[in-house]
Amino acid sequence: MLRPILKYGDRILHDRAQRVEAVTPEIERLVDDMVETMYAAPGVGLAAPQIGVPLRIFVVDISIGRDPAGLLVLINPEFVERDGLQLEEEGCLSVPGFNATVMRPSRAVVKGLDRAGNEHRHDATGLLARAFQHEMDHLDGTLFVDRLRGIKRDLIVRRIKKLTRAGKW
Ligand SMILES: [Zn+2]
Repeated sequence: MLRPILKYGDRILHDRAQRVEAVTPEIERLVDDMVETMYAAPGVGLAAPQIGVPLRIFVVDISIGRDPAGLLVLINPEFVERDGLQLEEEGCLSVPGFNATVMRPSRAVVKGLDRAGNEHRHDATGLLARAFQHEMDHLDGTLFVDRLRGIKRDLIVRRIKKLTRAGKW
């Protein structure tokens, strides 16, 4: 089932999400909805808080459905290692219409449970490492806008406030 994607300013997006206690059929259905919503957007990643569920789950597919092996589901993910540095343009389905360059480690090793409840470890570089870190941020209530500083951040926040006041956000 397609779920509406919350936008910057919605409380759930700015709060820390809770751990999943058990991978139940409800969680499996939630994951299916997240995958469907991510592909429909389309996006390379989606975290549960983005559809209003404050749980530590995200889905990522940097091939956006072109590679069947590209879909990764992470439940209760944790960083194992991070190193290096990359500086790339980033956007977010919860901040439509805005992009900014965000500094991130270039490599990230993340472990978490899959849809069946089995633990996996993913060693990622480049775009996948960036996607992992962007989605992990969502689970801690952080959006890419929060990682910007100064004028760039103020400009985006001001424009979002203006759009919100105009009823266009
Ligand atoms: Zn995002």
